[in-house]
Amino acid sequence: MSDIKFGKQYGFSTRAVHTGNDIDSESGAIRRPIIMANSYALPYDPTDLNWSEAGKSLYTRNGGANQGYLQEKLAILSEAEDCVVLATGVAALSSILFTLLKSGDHVICSNVSYIAVYRLLTEHLPNKYGIEATLVDTSDLEAVRAAIRPNTKLIHIETPGNPTLNISDIDEIANIAHENDALLSVDNTFASPYNQLPISLGADLVVESLTKYINGHGDAMGGAVLGPKAIIDEIKAEAMVNLGGAISPFNAWLIMRGAVTLPLRMKQHNENALKVAKYLESLPCVSFVAYPGLESNPQYKVAKKQMINGFSGMISFGLNTDFDTHNAFVSNLKVITSAVSLGHDESLIVFLGPKDERQYLYPDEFNNGFFRFSVGLEDAEDIIEDIRQALTKVKLL
Ligand SMILES: *Cc1c(COP(=O)(O)O)cnc(C)c1O
Repeated sequence: MSDIKFGKQYGFSTRAVHTGNDIDSESGAIRRPIIMANSYALPYDPTDLNWSEAGKSLYTRNGGANQGYLQEKLAILSEAEDCVVLATGVAALSSILFTLLKSGDHVICSNVSYIAVYRLLTEHLPNKYGIEATLVDTSDLEAVRAAIRPNTKLIHIETPGNPTLNISDIDEIANIAHENDALLSVDNTFASPYNQLPISLGADLVVESLTKYINGHGDAMGGAVLGPKAIIDEIKAEAMVNLGGAISPFNAWLIMRGAVTLPLRMKQHNENALKVAKYLESLPCVSFVAYPGLESNPQYKVAKKQMINGFSGMISFGLNTDFDTHNAFVSNLKVITSAVSLGHDESLIVFLGPKDERQYLYPDEFNNGFFRFSVGLEDAEDIIEDIRQALTKVKLL
């Protein structure tokens, strides 16, 4: 990637606009086109080609034009040497686990992590492949140190964690990993590279669900792994080509377009979420608010240290009420939509009830059911008014 025109000497917004785009040599268009091709022309003598090689323009599962452009942009925005983009965030997470681990290896993982990682590490990898995993509260550095074993190859953390917003200290955990010859991977989906740069804090690998903030418009799925070229090459060859989670060129193009406005959108998400979190915190009917940007949050200091531009748009909160009133509250919302996913333009809320099998891993205040709330780009006043009127309808205000 030595010929990148908009590299690190430019600011984040300039890189978000320009990196990965260029004048199309064929048409003269100032936008690179979407290349919806499965195959690329072979050389005169194709018999020496390695069909399992990644990066070559050969077959879109080995690497295609639009994937390449997006990889360029994401690597530059994340201050990473290289990047691989895949079909989903989960494809990105599993590409790390399947490429880096083998039978007999041990992984330490945040006890609050994306459900697919939880499932892979507690069931599939131990039962089918003999890979051991320990789930720990990675906000507790002593607990991380205590979980290290001679065969620990990887520490995987999610910060802020989905859905409790638990914060783990990236810099300190990177030191623990490296002192023990392990790698640190960080799921940065909740923060996005605008708010947090794990590689510059010492992490080896970063995962982003592009489905969320980076695309930002709720209309395409994708995932990325960022890190040193040697590891990314391995992930491309093993996971992209042979496990096959390639992203479609169209989705790569949509995400590329979405990523242009990432800094603008994140500013608004950061601002709106802080206003909404403060409003929720002021209400007697709200039992707790988990938002790392509140000074009352016990993890505020660590969050402030590593989240450079703001605390992102994700909040979890509880209500002092019975089970059904939670659903009634949501049914009265007009601006905020009840749906999974997060980081979209519109505000999204999910009621995560007390039956979630991972409740035992959450702090006590989450045990009566709680809301995961992705604060969108609407006017903060309208979001707050929507919450107020819905709480009034269910007689909590
Ligand atoms: C959504 C999400 C993922 C998974 O991403 P998909 O694109 O849905 O596969 C991984 N990690 C976190 C923190 C997420 O929120």
